[in-house]
Amino acid sequence: MGNSQVNQEAGSRLRIRTGLPLMASVDGHRFPVPFYLTADMFGGVPVEVAGGEICGLVGKPVADPHRHAVPEIYFLVSPNPGAARIAVTVDGESTELSSPALCYVPAGAEHCFLTVEAEPGSYCFGILLGSGT
Ligand code: ZN
Repeated sequence: MGNSQVNQEAGSRLRIRTGLPLMASVDGHRFPVPFYLTADMFGGVPVEVAGGEICGLVGKPVADPHRHAVPEIYFLVSPNPGAARIAVTVDGESTELSSPALCYVPAGAEHCFLTVEAEPGSYCFGILLGSGT
Protein backbone atom coordinates (compact mmCIF):
# COMPACT_ATOMS: atom_id res chain seq x y z
CA MET A 1 0.00 0.00 0.00
CA GLY A 2 1.59 3.30 -1.10
CA ASN A 3 5.01 3.89 0.37
CA SER A 4 4.46 1.49 3.22
CA GLN A 5 6.59 -1.55 3.75
CA VAL A 6 5.68 -4.91 5.16
CA ASN A 7 8.27 -7.49 6.14
CA GLN A 8 7.29 -10.67 4.39
CA GLU A 9 10.49 -12.70 4.57
CA ALA A 10 9.69 -16.38 4.72
CA GLY A 11 9.98 -17.73 8.23
CA SER A 12 10.42 -14.33 9.88
CA ARG A 13 8.25 -13.51 12.87
CA LEU A 14 9.11 -9.83 12.55
CA ARG A 15 6.18 -7.88 11.22
CA ILE A 16 7.16 -4.28 10.59
CA ARG A 17 5.12 -1.44 9.24
CA THR A 18 6.73 1.75 7.96
CA GLY A 19 5.55 4.53 5.68
CA LEU A 20 3.67 6.11 8.57
CA PRO A 21 1.52 7.96 9.27
CA LEU A 22 -1.36 7.14 6.95
CA MET A 23 -3.61 10.15 6.41
CA ALA A 24 -7.35 9.57 6.73
CA SER A 25 -10.36 11.79 7.12
CA VAL A 26 -12.32 11.42 10.36
CA ASP A 27 -15.75 12.87 11.16
CA GLY A 28 -15.47 16.10 13.12
CA HIS A 29 -11.85 16.70 12.22
CA ARG A 30 -10.89 19.72 10.19
CA PHE A 31 -7.99 18.14 8.30
CA PRO A 32 -6.95 14.59 7.42
CA VAL A 33 -5.75 12.80 10.56
CA PRO A 34 -2.37 11.01 10.76
CA PHE A 35 -2.85 7.35 11.75
CA TYR A 36 0.08 5.33 13.11
CA LEU A 37 -1.92 2.14 13.57
CA THR A 38 -5.12 1.11 11.83
CA ALA A 39 -7.36 -1.86 12.46
CA ASP A 40 -6.45 -3.50 9.15
CA MET A 41 -2.72 -3.71 9.91
CA PHE A 42 -1.00 -6.97 10.89
CA GLY A 43 -3.91 -9.02 9.69
CA GLY A 44 -6.38 -7.09 11.86
CA VAL A 45 -5.92 -5.54 15.31
CA PRO A 46 -8.58 -4.21 17.73
CA VAL A 47 -7.03 -0.78 18.16
CA GLU A 48 -6.22 2.30 16.12
CA VAL A 49 -3.76 5.07 16.99
CA ALA A 50 -4.02 8.54 15.49
CA GLY A 51 -2.46 11.85 16.34
CA GLY A 52 0.73 13.79 16.02
CA GLU A 53 3.06 16.53 17.11
CA ILE A 54 1.19 19.36 18.85
CA CYS A 55 3.80 22.06 19.47
CA GLY A 56 2.49 24.05 16.51
CA LEU A 57 -1.11 23.68 17.63
CA VAL A 58 -1.27 25.84 20.76
CA GLY A 59 -4.70 27.45 20.76
CA LYS A 60 -5.66 25.72 17.49
CA PRO A 61 -8.26 22.95 17.74
CA VAL A 62 -7.67 20.03 15.37
CA ALA A 63 -11.27 18.84 15.63
CA ASP A 64 -14.70 20.07 16.50
CA PRO A 65 -16.42 18.25 19.37
CA HIS A 66 -17.17 14.76 18.02
CA ARG A 67 -18.12 11.21 19.04
CA HIS A 68 -16.95 7.71 18.18
CA ALA A 69 -18.77 4.39 18.36
CA VAL A 70 -15.81 3.05 20.37
CA PRO A 71 -13.92 4.31 23.46
CA GLU A 72 -10.91 6.54 22.86
CA ILE A 73 -7.96 7.18 25.15
CA TYR A 74 -6.08 10.44 24.77
CA PHE A 75 -2.36 9.87 25.32
CA LEU A 76 -0.31 13.01 25.92
CA VAL A 77 3.49 12.78 25.97
CA SER A 78 6.41 15.21 25.76
CA PRO A 79 10.20 14.98 26.09
CA ASN A 80 10.05 16.64 29.51
CA PRO A 81 7.30 15.88 32.05
CA GLY A 82 4.76 18.67 32.31
CA ALA A 83 5.94 20.40 29.14
CA ALA A 84 2.72 19.64 27.28
CA ARG A 85 -0.74 20.59 28.49
CA ILE A 86 -4.09 20.13 26.80
CA ALA A 87 -7.58 21.14 27.81
CA VAL A 88 -9.86 18.13 27.38
CA THR A 89 -13.65 18.31 27.24
CA VAL A 90 -15.76 15.16 27.58
CA ASP A 91 -19.55 15.49 27.53
CA GLY A 92 -19.31 19.11 28.57
CA GLU A 93 -16.89 18.50 31.47
CA SER A 94 -13.44 20.06 31.04
CA THR A 95 -10.10 19.48 32.67
CA GLU A 96 -6.46 20.08 31.88
CA LEU A 97 -3.97 17.25 31.32
CA SER A 98 -0.26 17.70 31.94
CA SER A 99 2.12 15.29 30.19
CA PRO A 100 2.48 12.40 30.55
CA ALA A 101 -1.22 11.67 30.99
CA LEU A 102 -4.11 9.62 29.69
CA CYS A 103 -7.80 10.52 29.47
CA TYR A 104 -10.45 7.86 28.85
CA VAL A 105 -13.35 8.91 26.63
CA PRO A 106 -16.29 6.50 26.79
CA ALA A 107 -17.88 5.30 23.56
CA GLY A 108 -20.42 7.81 22.32
CA ALA A 109 -19.21 10.67 24.54
CA GLU A 110 -18.74 14.03 22.85
CA HIS A 111 -15.13 15.11 23.17
CA CYS A 112 -12.37 17.38 21.93
CA PHE A 113 -9.11 18.86 23.14
CA LEU A 114 -7.21 22.09 22.77
CA THR A 115 -3.45 22.40 23.14
CA VAL A 116 -2.55 24.87 25.90
CA GLU A 117 1.24 24.46 25.91
CA ALA A 118 3.60 22.06 24.13
CA GLU A 119 7.36 21.94 23.80
CA PRO A 120 8.79 20.58 20.52
CA GLY A 121 8.45 16.79 20.44
CA SER A 122 5.14 16.77 22.30
CA TYR A 123 2.52 14.39 20.93
CA CYS A 124 -1.13 13.81 21.59
CA PHE A 125 -2.47 10.49 20.35
CA GLY A 126 -6.01 9.19 20.28
CA ILE A 127 -6.04 5.45 20.89
CA LEU A 128 -9.31 4.09 19.53
CA LEU A 129 -10.24 0.82 21.20
CA GLY A 130 -11.66 -1.01 18.25
CA SER A 131 -12.17 -0.09 14.66
CA GLY A 132 -14.93 2.14 13.45
CA THR A 133 -13.89 5.72 13.97
ZN1 ZN B 1 -11.99 11.49 19.03
